[in-house]
Amino acid sequence: MTTVRDVELVWHDLTPRLLEVVRVRRLTPGMVRVTFGGEQLDGFRYAAPDDHVKVFFPAPGADRPVMPTLGEDGLEPPPPGAPRPIYRDYTVRYVRPEQRELDIDFALHGHGPGGSWAAQAAPGQRLGILGPRGSNLVPLTFDWYLLGADETALPALAAWLEHLPAAARVIARIEVAGAAEEQPLAVRADADVRWLHRDRGESLELAIGGLTLPPGDGYVWIAGEASGLKPVRRYIRSQGQPREWTEVDGYWKRGVVNLDHHEGEDSD
Ligand SMILES: Cc1cc2nc3c(=O)[nH]c(=O)nc-3n(C[C@H](O)[C@H](O)[C@H](O)COP(=O)(O)OP(=O)(O)OC[C@H]3O[C@@H](n4cnc5c(N)ncnc54)[C@H](O)[C@@H]3O)c2cc1C
Repeated sequence: MTTVRDVELVWHDLTPRLLEVVRVRRLTPGMVRVTFGGEQLDGFRYAAPDDHVKVFFPAPGADRPVMPTLGEDGLEPPPPGAPRPIYRDYTVRYVRPEQRELDIDFALHGHGPGGSWAAQAAPGQRLGILGPRGSNLVPLTFDWYLLGADETALPALAAWLEHLPAAARVIARIEVAGAAEEQPLAVRADADVRWLHRDRGESLELAIGGLTLPPGDGYVWIAGEASGLKPVRRYIRSQGQPREWTEVDGYWKRGVVNLDHHEGEDSD
C-alpha cells in the first residue's frame, strides 16, 4: 500500500490586528522574543510551524503603525496621498490563545524598520499584524525530514522540531553567527541536529551540500538568506528529491530592502 503524502495549503481569513507589546526577552545577543497581547488576538488561526504574519511597524516618531488596506485579493496599495504602511514578514513562534498572547522572535541585524524596531522594543508599544494568510500542512508520515535555517528561519525550524512526531527521522542544520547564538531546542536524542557557526566558516551551503539524503520519502524545508540558498536548492534537486516535497525559501536577501515575497523554486 502506498502512503499518500500531499502537502495541503489551507487558507485563513485575513484580519488586521493591532497588538500591544506585553514582554520583551533577549534569547541571545542577536535575537529578541517579543510577546504581543490584546483582545484582537481572539480568533487568530495558526496551523503550521512556518506560519507567518506581516508585521506593521510605526513610522519613526509615530506611536502606532499605519494599518493595511485590504481588498478582495488581500493587501492593497493605500489610497493616493494616504501614508504607506511599513511591514515585513515574521514567523509566529508561539500562540497562547487562553492568555491572548503571541510571540515573535526577531533577529537583531542592525538595519531596517524590523531589525531597528526590535532592538528598542518595550512593553506598551503597538504593532499591527496581518495573517497568517494560509498554512502549508505537511504530512507527518514522511520517513525523514531535512530542516535548515539561518537566524531568520530559526523560529520556524524550532517550531518544526516541536511539531514533528517522535518517530520521525530528523536532520537539521542551523547557521548562526557563532556559539553565542545557539538556543535551547526541543531535540530528541536520536535527532541529527547541528549548529553551524559563520565565524568558523561554516554555512548551510557547505553543510547541506555534503549531505547524502536518507533512503525513503523525505520532506525538505530550508529557509534563510536568498543568494546563499541557490546552491542549496540546486543540490537538493540534483539528489532527485521531488519538488512537491521540497521547500527552499529565501527569507531575506543581502543588500535588498524588504524582500516582500518568498524566493522559492522558480527564482533561480
Ligand atoms: C516567511 C518569512 C518569515 C520570516 N520570519 C522571520 C522571523 O521569525 N524572524 C526574523 O528575524 N526574520 C524573519 N524573516 C526575515 C525578515 O522578514 C527579513 O529579515 C526582513 O528583511 C527584516 O526587515 P528589516 O526591516 O529588519 O530589514 P529590511 O528593511 O528589509 O532590510 C534592510 C537591510 O537589512 C538587511 N537584512 C535584512 N534581514 C537581515 C538579517 N537577518 N541579517 C542581516 N541583514 C539583514 C537587508 O539585506 C537590507 O540590506 C522572515 C521572512 C519571511 C519571508
